[in-house]
Amino acid sequence: MTRVVYVNGRYLPYAQAGVNVEDRGFQFADAIYEVCEINGGRLVDETRHMERLERSLDALRIAMPMSRRALGLVLREVVRRNRVTTGLLYLQVTRGVAPRDFPFPGDDVAPTVVCLARRVDDAKRAARASAGIAVKTMPDIRWGRCDIKTVMLLPAVLAKEAAAEDGAQEAWLVDSDGFVTEGASSNAWIVDRSGSLVTRPTGNAILPGVTRRTLLDLLSREKIPLLERAFSVDEALSAREAFITSASGTVMPVVAINKVPIGNGHPGELTLRLRSIFHQVAELSH
Ligand code: PMP
Repeated sequence: MTRVVYVNGRYLPYAQAGVNVEDRGFQFADAIYEVCEINGGRLVDETRHMERLERSLDALRIAMPMSRRALGLVLREVVRRNRVTTGLLYLQVTRGVAPRDFPFPGDDVAPTVVCLARRVDDAKRAARASAGIAVKTMPDIRWGRCDIKTVMLLPAVLAKEAAAEDGAQEAWLVDSDGFVTEGASSNAWIVDRSGSLVTRPTGNAILPGVTRRTLLDLLSREKIPLLERAFSVDEALSAREAFITSASGTVMPVVAINKVPIGNGHPGELTLRLRSIFHQVAELSH
């Protein structure tokens, strides 16, 4: 089956798809993106992803490329044409194509839209979740607006590479006061000694994760105590449990930080319970 990608109004085989070399996404990382889980062929938490997309575009003063309804049809068509039942949808919107110059181009420049869908091996992901992942801490060297989901991901690339070279699957970024901000591509959580879940409050220092937000709904439904506050690396090392959240992994247990086992070195009980019931509260598209 030929995989197709949506580029500016057309569904094209990958070999025929491309973006102009003067695209501002390519030249300045002047672009935002979303990643959405595909579960049973349906989009998970589409409304929240669309809300965040609009918020990111607004923050950068990039126009919404089409109505939310039209965009929703494109997303569905990409999933359908690629016959993805379990996987990820990737959507990127750039400020468009213009001769290279830093200030914004004129209003006549239309945003570039790219959307693709990719299968994920469910068995592999489940195996990863039952083993749990290792995390390496790295200094957070990103900019002051980490709440905007831009494609300016070089600090995340470098941190993830350093983690991978150390046998870890995620990097936890640490601010100058020694507090964890978030994962390189996930939000960071611990279960403290009293059994409360702890995660950093939203603000400019972290991306407001859609999975994080939906998990908050689950916690209130399950009456699980939550503390939205920053936690230090030392506190994480002595936590009962730790995990990350993201659209690509939902709730993923962390069993080691900097090679130090967390809790008993196995995925935590509460973490696995939250993982198993996460989709009960997530929105599934039609
Ligand atoms: N933080 C960062 C820096 C991320 O890149 C991601 C994943 N896109 C997340 C958090 C998790 O966000 P979500 O739950 O919306 O995937």
